Amino acid sequence: MKGIGIMGGTFDPIHMGHLLTAEYVRDAYGLEKVLFIPAANSPFKLEKKVESAEDRLAMTRLAVADNPHFEASDIEMRREGVSYTSDTIALLRAHFGPDVPLYFITGADAINDLPAWHHPRELLELCHFIAATRQGTALDLPKLRAFFGALCDAHIHELATPELEISSTEIRARIRQGRSIRYMVPESVETYIRKEGLYRCVME
Ligand code: ATP
Ligand code: MG
Repeated sequence: MKGIGIMGGTFDPIHMGHLLTAEYVRDAYGLEKVLFIPAANSPFKLEKKVESAEDRLAMTRLAVADNPHFEASDIEMRREGVSYTSDTIALLRAHFGPDVPLYFITGADAINDLPAWHHPRELLELCHFIAATRQGTALDLPKLRAFFGALCDAHIHELATPELEISSTEIRARIRQGRSIRYMVPESVETYIRKEGLYRCVME
């Protein structure tokens, strides 16, 4: 059974780093598709002002439009309140049924913090985690094994991915400074940002 990749994030805005990582993992694991799920209200970013959910979803849709294996999902945006990954994965598990492997794609740094997430054990039972290893950050396997036991080695996987040193934070700053973001985001996303006038005033 081919698996489904899940790429969660604020996507404020989505950029080439997200897309490259998702495609690299999709190819390495032979995934049927990757779902890009913009978070409505990330539990880690409640204090930060982000662009509207609608704009972030629209940019995500534009960014994935030309890849038949990529799909934008509004599953978190349709829910009220804080989005917990455990709730989202439980919904996807119910949607796809018990036999389709689900692969949550994220950075090794985020996976090292997994024990602090909402319902971490239940979450790890429902899906696999792919740690896209970013420079300088390795998986903290002793910590993860101590917390999750055998589930750690069965459900947490490491994959060295090529790295684009760009972040949404840098892109927002560059727009404020009137600098180029060409090749950092897909052309369609840049066109949307310019047309809607996003990120022009100070947000952080
Ligand atoms: P911000 O700067 O606002 O924190 P970000 O660029 O880190 O944004 P997020 O939406 O927070 O983007 O990240 C979503 C997911 O993409 C996370 O799992 C994060 O680890 C990963 N990610 C972020 N930037 C990159 C990149 N350049 N290459 C690969 N993965 C990335
Ligand atoms: Mg980030």
